[in-house]
Amino acid sequence: MPEIWILRIGHRPQRDKRVTTHVALSSRALGASGIFIDTEDKTLEKNIGSVVGRFGGNYSIRTGVPWRRMLEEFDGEVIHLTMYGQRLDEALPNIPREKDLLVVVGAEKVPPEVYQAADRNISVGNQPHSEIAALAIFLDRLTDGRNLYSDRSGQMTVVPNERGKTVVSKHT
Ligand code: SAM
Repeated sequence: MPEIWILRIGHRPQRDKRVTTHVALSSRALGASGIFIDTEDKTLEKNIGSVVGRFGGNYSIRTGVPWRRMLEEFDGEVIHLTMYGQRLDEALPNIPREKDLLVVVGAEKVPPEVYQAADRNISVGNQPHSEIAALAIFLDRLTDGRNLYSDRSGQMTVVPNERGKTVVSKHT
């Protein structure tokens, strides 16, 4: 089964720690296999690793990744999310389902070479908003919502509930 990877460009550890954490957590929740982040950030690696340890799945995180090389060498389809890109509804039917995907999101201004290196530049609406929102909507549409409640076999599993909180804990 093809995998979905995320590349986060422009991460500034102090300023972006919350947003990049949420980029990682949202993409994990919506079925991505892992995230590559350009700037080294061991704290972020530890925090995401801790969530994966408790809630399961195989999501991986690597920071300090040279993004130019990653874009050149990725074996699959590179998709850059940007408000300037092609409409999501028009792009979706043409995204290959048999290839791995690398979904690129920025922080601040994204260098022009990213637009050129990407196989597709796709917009999630034509208004500026957030990398977390753009990624979440993109992944949910791409996967038709099927990862929202998929089982991750975690030490902790939250059971959907109309009221109250139900958490099943595995004792190891
Ligand atoms: N102004 C920056 C630029 O020109 O590249 C964008 C900054 S925005 C806060 C951070 C990231 O959110 C962008 O790099 C893009 O990946 C994502 N993003 C924001 N709005 C988007 C939209 N409407 N569609 C797709 N991605 C979007």
